[in-house]
Amino acid sequence: MSSMIPVSVEIEGNETEVVKIHSTADITAVKEQLLGKDHLNYQVYYNDQILNSHETVPADTSYRDPLLIRRTSIDLPMPVAKPDLVSSLIEESNVITQNPIFTGGCQCGKIRYALYSTPERITVCHCRMCQKAVGGPFIAVAIISTKHFAWTRGNPSTFASSSVATRGFCSNCGTPLSYQIRQKLSIEITIGSFDRAPELIPQEQIGIESCLKWALLNKLPPKSSDANEIPPSKIISYQHPDHETSEAEWLTFNTKQKDEIQELITL
Ligand SMILES: [Zn+2]
Ligand SMILES: [Zn+2]
Repeated sequence: MSSMIPVSVEIEGNETEVVKIHSTADITAVKEQLLGKDHLNYQVYYNDQILNSHETVPADTSYRDPLLIRRTSIDLPMPVAKPDLVSSLIEESNVITQNPIFTGGCQCGKIRYALYSTPERITVCHCRMCQKAVGGPFIAVAIISTKHFAWTRGNPSTFASSSVATRGFCSNCGTPLSYQIRQKLSIEITIGSFDRAPELIPQEQIGIESCLKWALLNKLPPKSSDANEIPPSKIISYQHPDHETSEAEWLTFNTKQKDEIQELITL
């Protein structure tokens, strides 16, 4: 059962006001209520501590001690922020002067990245392609707008795992780093590669149809891949099948991937 509780909030530069929220609401819900669609550009603080999107709202706020909402947008002047472009802009013009909220990178340190906003969502995916891509029971990723994300050292190598997405990894040490649906303005970053990985707590599990029985996470709501934004029926997988193949069969997969990569280069 959730009840309504009063919360004192100051949006930086404005007067403190009291809003009523559900006692179970998280920080994202409060930001959405106050700021609408623009909420992704804001960070919430309480007693000088950053509150992450999934955290519940502290019940002991007061007029003297309100939640403080500050704008964090890096506001890069471009319609489509490609991560590599963001990196080069940082180097060239120092557009981004604020400190990142999260940083991370691969095992060897050749590739580093930064997030300038808290992730929009943190998800576990059990689908067969994510299992294969990380060589583990599932992938866990934080999803963030490319506007608030930059590769800050090096750029990952990429593999087109299907007709709609590429996966980024370090070519030196092999750490899986990212998943990105082509032309989408968000990127998914593996939470194990974050410097402060313990702070990233998944809110949902998807790809449940391929979930290994022992790897089901009981606390998270499960969803099938059919509920994905792009369901499996709309995707051509370039993943090797789960059985032995002849060299000729394998070459057909390999050729599809090469065509895809060629297409990406010429986009
Ligand atoms: Zn590396
Ligand atoms: Zn998946």
